[in-house]
Amino acid sequence: MKGELINMLPRDEWIQILIHCRNKVQKNTKPLLGEMRKPQPNLGMGAGGDPVKKIDLAAEKAIMDTLEKYASSFTLISEESGLIEHGREPGQCYVTADPVDGTTNLTRGIPFYATSIAVSSEPSLETVHTALVTDLFHGTTYTAQRGAGAFRDDERITSSTNFSVEEGVIGIDLNSYRIQKLASKLTALMSEAKHLRHFGANALELCYVADGTTDAFIDIREKLRTTDVAAASLIIGEAGAKMTTPEGKQLKVRLDPKQTMAFVASGNANIHKRILDLIATQREKE
Ligand SMILES: [Mg+2]
Repeated sequence: MKGELINMLPRDEWIQILIHCRNKVQKNTKPLLGEMRKPQPNLGMGAGGDPVKKIDLAAEKAIMDTLEKYASSFTLISEESGLIEHGREPGQCYVTADPVDGTTNLTRGIPFYATSIAVSSEPSLETVHTALVTDLFHGTTYTAQRGAGAFRDDERITSSTNFSVEEGVIGIDLNSYRIQKLASKLTALMSEAKHLRHFGANALELCYVADGTTDAFIDIREKLRTTDVAAASLIIGEAGAKMTTPEGKQLKVRLDPKQTMAFVASGNANIHKRILDLIATQREKE
């Protein structure tokens, strides 16, 4: 009986557990930060398909240890280790994590990398109810609970109201061997935008759309893993921003380390529609 009671974690408690996870990730990764620019040992490939670094494993262990301490049953869906079932009823809640998003930035000394953790009732993006993304360099934390708004540290955040693509700051992830195929879909958008950016940690870049730092972030490569997006998608929605497929449909994606997706995220419905139109215009011309 005791186990069953502990299993019934109210959603409010999850935000506190994610903050405990963040604190332990910060504590456990700090000693490794200084050596990240040195050559790294070969630790094989993670479940998401990227080479694993010591810091990825340290961050993942920090998350797993914290979850085991506070929750009796869960399934961890992690970019590094894949699926880890814990407890007697691992199907009762799902924790999707990218322990370190932006590891390349970290290894090169670019101060833009994050930890991303989302909690959901099913292994699907649309059931995420609690989310946290922490900028590990600056210490800024973005959180959201479904129906309760989005926050940057203690401050409630809302997305941009700018509706001009030309005036806006627009992020596009172009890292792909398929760039020649994708480029034609993006030409109209890139011609209209005057301030294009890509910072290299997509979870954090989506939080920049959520708090209005940027006006949109687009990733139509079909290559981004759901572990990068799970937390930020709720933060985006709770901040009033829009996030859909490149065709404007609702994102319905399975949470799995190997599952990839494409999306357009924008600060408001007006700029979102303009971006979707610009991508579609180009598509029809092909
Ligand atoms: Mg990672």
